[in-house]
Amino acid sequence: MLTPDNAVHVPPAVHHIPADKVCGRAKDVIRRLQKAGYEAYLVGGCVRDLLLGLVPKDFDIATSAHPEEIRRLFNSCRLIGRRFRLAHIYYGRDYLEVATFRAPHDDSEDGGKVNDAGRIIHDNVYGTLEEDVWRRDFTINALFYDPISDELLDFVGGLDDLRNGKIRLLGNPEQRFREDPVRLLRAVRFAAKLNFEIEPATLACVRPMGILLEGVSSARLFDEIIKLLHSGCGWNTFRLLREYNLLEYLLPLTYESLEDDDTGNFERMITLSLQNTDQRLAEGKSVMPAFLYAVLLWHEVSVVAEELQARGMPELQAMTQASGDALHDQVDFTAVPRRYSNITREIWLLQSRFRYRDIRRATTLLTNPRFRAAYDFMCLRAEAGEPVDDDAEWWTAFQSATHEEREAMCKGAAIKGSLRRRKKRRKPTTASKSASPAS
Ligand code: ATP
Ligand code: MG
Repeated sequence: MLTPDNAVHVPPAVHHIPADKVCGRAKDVIRRLQKAGYEAYLVGGCVRDLLLGLVPKDFDIATSAHPEEIRRLFNSCRLIGRRFRLAHIYYGRDYLEVATFRAPHDDSEDGGKVNDAGRIIHDNVYGTLEEDVWRRDFTINALFYDPISDELLDFVGGLDDLRNGKIRLLGNPEQRFREDPVRLLRAVRFAAKLNFEIEPATLACVRPMGILLEGVSSARLFDEIIKLLHSGCGWNTFRLLREYNLLEYLLPLTYESLEDDDTGNFERMITLSLQNTDQRLAEGKSVMPAFLYAVLLWHEVSVVAEELQARGMPELQAMTQASGDALHDQVDFTAVPRRYSNITREIWLLQSRFRYRDIRRATTLLTNPRFRAAYDFMCLRAEAGEPVDDDAEWWTAFQSATHEEREAMCKGAAIKGSLRRRKKRRKPTTASKSASPAS
């Protein structure tokens, strides 16, 4: 068992955390907590990132003060969470999160805090600093930094792992993954983000334990998927998810589509899209979860829509049904909030509209609120090698043309062909099996 005495106290000359990179407000909060007699530290991702010379996303604070005690010290404090209470200290619309030290689960006696599968169901017992260390996931995320004394506390060899580029789960990897299978995804996320290696004992559990993700709530997996693919290293993360056999539990339709598509177009589309997303995030631009899902499920949607059309269903109806089925099937794995899935669906349904080139319809399409996303999506399809004829060039030129030029472009332009038939028929899916052309 750890005690404060067997923590390694790392002095500034060794850890080199740049004092000026520590958030001033976080330092003030910690100073105030310490003056009131509590222990308080920066913890988790911010300490890891400061040590690596990266800019932390946020500064999380861990303290021995209980939520009510924190609230008494800070006027602008709000307590959130029912089961597990956290303190948010507000500065206008920004806030700092302050969490009370928690103990790791204890399934020995009356605790009953893990279920039969070993998964944590209660995680709300306050604890000491030393206990709080053990409930964390990886050694590199279990470092505590006191910005007042400028001292780093390392109980678990986290600094060595950070220097050697290792992702190491604390404790027994099998038990820790079982407690919370989302840690599988977090291991991949940090490996991709930091370009670190998952150390062998941790890695040995990743492939065989992927199936545990089936037991995680789809809402939580949605949050994770956004963190995985929309944090700036989406492409690298996606490759690792595939390599470690986790994709099939997170995005089974995407996984099957990649197996099914022998043209390579779908894989190219994902690659280009994720690389473009990474680039946009690096430039501080916004990215859309709805667009991400439009890409990830596109192969499934377009193939099922073709099959329905081949059985006599009109194009728009086929697309509507295929879109609904794909989103419905995906929701069993990761939630897709309606505000996103509605946009995803619109992006898909607008694809066929790019073939209509009479002046009235084409100009109306330009004013559609989803035109931009649907146009970007169509360009992506073209770039990936899908047979969309000259749609991408035509619509690029059409947008910047004058009204007269637009009229000239439309004159004589016919409606282009419908969704191209692919040579290979795919295995029937749940969606295509239940689809009825007459409905
Ligand atoms: P990021 O930079 O992506 O925010 P982070 O390490 O700060 O990375 P958070 O999700 O913000 O990640 O979590 C903060 C800290 O809480 C982690 O560093 C880790 O110590 C702990 N933590 C988060 N999720 C888990 C988990 N599933 N199991 C154990 N500890 C966790
Ligand atoms: Mg964080």
